[in-house]
Amino acid sequence: MDFDNTESDTLMEVRQKQILHLYAKTGLSFWGNLVIAIILALVLSLQTTEEQTLHLFIWFGLIVATSLYRLIITNNFHHERVVSKERIDYWASRYVNISTIINGIWGSIGILFFPEETLFQGFLFLLLLSVLFASMPLLALSRATYYLQMGVVLLPIGLYIVWIGDKEHYIMALALFTAAISLFAAANYIYDLLFELQNTQAELLQQANTDQLTRIPNRRQYDQTFKKEWRRCTREDLPISMLLIDVDYFKKYNDRFGHSHGDDCLLSVAGRLGSISRRPGDIAARHGGEEFAVLLPNTSLDNAIMLAERFRVSIERLGIEHPDSEYKVLTVSIGVSSCDPLQRDHSEDVVYPAMLMNSADNAMYLAKRQGRNRIATQGCGEQKIANILHEEALKDADRGNPEELPEPA
Ligand code: GH3
Ligand code: MG
Ligand code: MG
Repeated sequence: MDFDNTESDTLMEVRQKQILHLYAKTGLSFWGNLVIAIILALVLSLQTTEEQTLHLFIWFGLIVATSLYRLIITNNFHHERVVSKERIDYWASRYVNISTIINGIWGSIGILFFPEETLFQGFLFLLLLSVLFASMPLLALSRATYYLQMGVVLLPIGLYIVWIGDKEHYIMALALFTAAISLFAAANYIYDLLFELQNTQAELLQQANTDQLTRIPNRRQYDQTFKKEWRRCTREDLPISMLLIDVDYFKKYNDRFGHSHGDDCLLSVAGRLGSISRRPGDIAARHGGEEFAVLLPNTSLDNAIMLAERFRVSIERLGIEHPDSEYKVLTVSIGVSSCDPLQRDHSEDVVYPAMLMNSADNAMYLAKRQGRNRIATQGCGEQKIANILHEEALKDADRGNPEELPEPA
């Protein structure tokens, strides 16, 4: 796995939230457009001929239809659980396209129904500017998107009044130009603020998801990815596997070499994790203390075992001296588990995510009990094995060896 990807992943998460926010407000935009269009059409109809009133009616219908269309595609967005960058970009550009069309229709009114009386002309200016104020949330997508909206709304009326070419209209053009420049500057400022906030938010999210010592994802991020990938594997009927990796005799290592050398070992182990989690959707994380977890969606138990064994050997081959271990070098024990989210377990119960985690945990304790520096497996729902183990361990504990007590299933 490419750990550098996590930064762009967090930015993508922030961006997805912003688009979600934009989409959540589409209902409001629809009603806003409707109200402004009704007011504008009513006021302008006082100035228009009968034929123009018909055209005004058509224009009004277009505004309503396109706004309604934007409202409908919002529903499709909410139905699709957007996960990939491509889909986010797709939905963002759809939103921009339809919003530009709506604002283009607004802008067209500056030429099609430019009123005779100055009072009505001023009224039209103000309403067009209010359309642009209402479009400011588009700054969440990009600066250029908003400038495009300014262009399509203000350019037609601006060019038209310059084309009329009398003194009164030149003054109007100057007022419009000033308003446009102020809007441009304000939009620029708001965009910079948003951009900075977006980056800060992504940075904080990144920190919250990263283990400070090893710089790999932490348990928080692992759990989030786990939920997401479990859903994906359920949807697509794919197996999902997990490795729980625990450093052997790590307490003794710390006791002999000191905590900071212990930290170096954790860094070495974390550094090797990239070799087994390479595909998108894979995640290798520090699960806590000297324990690491690797999630392998769309990976069978056999392949997960192969990867685990490769990892175990690679740690052994690092040859980190550990005189207090019977292997004389630092080693790891790995619990491997695999689930088929749509399959039922032995007692015909539904398989659920915690089962994968529990089974990997049980398998890891099994590997410890069998002598460490090895892998052990437990299928999803094979809790009975763990129960037997636990009973055995309780007997051990009675015999005065409580250290090896595994978790009950
Ligand atoms: P086992 O083979 O059964 O796993 O034995 P163990 O000694 O590895 O396991 P145990 O749970 O007894 O001890 C875990 C040790 O890991 C104790 C703790 O000091 C150490 N540890 C946990 N987190 C860190 C860390 O961030 N840095 C260092 N240096 N040590 C840590
Ligand atoms: Mg441990
Ligand atoms: Mg350990």
